Amino acid sequence: MFQKILIANRGEIALRVLRAAKELGIQTVVVHSTADADAMHVRLADESVCIGPPPARDSYLNIHQIVAACEITGADAVHPGYGFLSENAKFADILAAHKITFIGPSGDHIRTMGDKIEAKRTAKRLGIPVVPGSEGAVTEESEAKRIAADIGYPVIIKASAGGGGRGMKVARTEEDLEIALDTARSEAGAAFGDDAVYIEKYLEKPRHIEVQVVGDGAGNAIHLGERDCSLQRRHQKVWEEANSPALNDEERAKIGETCSKAIADMSYSGAGTIEFLYENGEFYFIEMNTRLQVEHPVTEAITGIDLVHEQIRVASGGGLSVRQNEIRFQGHAIECRINAEDPRTFTPSPGTITHFHTPGGLGIRVDSGVYSGYRIPPYYDSLIGKLIVHGRNRVECLMRLRRALDEFVVDGIKTTLPLFRDLVGNPDIANGDYDIHWLEKHLAQNP
Ligand code: ADP
Repeated sequence: MFQKILIANRGEIALRVLRAAKELGIQTVVVHSTADADAMHVRLADESVCIGPPPARDSYLNIHQIVAACEITGADAVHPGYGFLSENAKFADILAAHKITFIGPSGDHIRTMGDKIEAKRTAKRLGIPVVPGSEGAVTEESEAKRIAADIGYPVIIKASAGGGGRGMKVARTEEDLEIALDTARSEAGAAFGDDAVYIEKYLEKPRHIEVQVVGDGAGNAIHLGERDCSLQRRHQKVWEEANSPALNDEERAKIGETCSKAIADMSYSGAGTIEFLYENGEFYFIEMNTRLQVEHPVTEAITGIDLVHEQIRVASGGGLSVRQNEIRFQGHAIECRINAEDPRTFTPSPGTITHFHTPGGLGIRVDSGVYSGYRIPPYYDSLIGKLIVHGRNRVECLMRLRRALDEFVVDGIKTTLPLFRDLVGNPDIANGDYDIHWLEKHLAQNP
């Protein structure tokens, strides 16, 4: 087991990892920018190292500073959290060269899955169902037209290097396609420094369903069921639940087994998420994330398994703590992402939190790095906390969520809490009847 883990992140996820390390009796080091000197993760860690000024590229993305912080403190492993360097293959390679363990998959696995065209090819080879579309990158307009005619309109043009919901264009006709191809390529080139794009069938009313997997790197893997993340705004997840209201036990077991088998066949090491769109009873792979996800707590709630413990165990060579046949899915869990944003316009609302009171009671978990008097720096993501609620079934979970949202107080800044108070009382949400476009439509109809 590791002696000392350096956490290369900030906010709620830095705290989340710190808690898991403490439980395992591992010393913790955190890094922080000058803007985060007062952050909770800095206060609670055994050691902290300031690695640079506020901009992320000079601090949380500065590989040299982070490696130096490991050497100064003697950390033998790094947990990257999500975002920042968590899917940076070069970072994983550099750590390996310094004999520091990256708590995550190999650089090669990160590289394969980080390139969406390569990821889709790999998924297909491993028996995972994919969205019909081009076999690889598409450069010629004539080729694009031929493929689109073949799979049928509408189609979506996506950047191979894409992420965060950026670099996607929908084309409903051949005329649209010409423009979409050009704009997608130039946007991808500008945003990601790689203008490779590919085409796939645009699904009209899918749900976003993703499967949590963990591999031990030696050919064994488990799946921990699925999460439904269909409630999205601008392709960003807002509310996530486990299990999906749309799947039955048979479908869950089938897609879960397909995914864990693929992960085992790859000899993948660590936690990962295989993301699908789901429509008319069919799953279509869209991408794999080779890291812990923001929404992992809903899976922890229904399985009782600490995913960060599993990540640390697997990375240290200790193997998985459970076998597939020991995993039980119990009850229902929902996560709300609470952002420091205006609940209608979604413009960021940094500033000082004058009062912060979190709900409690049975089935309630709040993962947050903020506190009363905390000043939210304007440089980073607007996520200030996550409310995760667990109940014996979805009805109980929703009742409890409504109560927890009533108790939650964040004063001094605007937050997205009012949005969730609205959603929890909506009949479509109560019925689990929503797809990936539901939230945007709802927001447009209720300005
Ligand atoms: P990113 O890495 O940028 O998040 P994804 O491939 O995961 O990109 O897609 C993000 C979101 O875009 C999906 O959750 C879905 O809402 C939408 N999307 C992606 N591919 C398709 C598709 N083929 N049809 C319809 N919607 C899609």
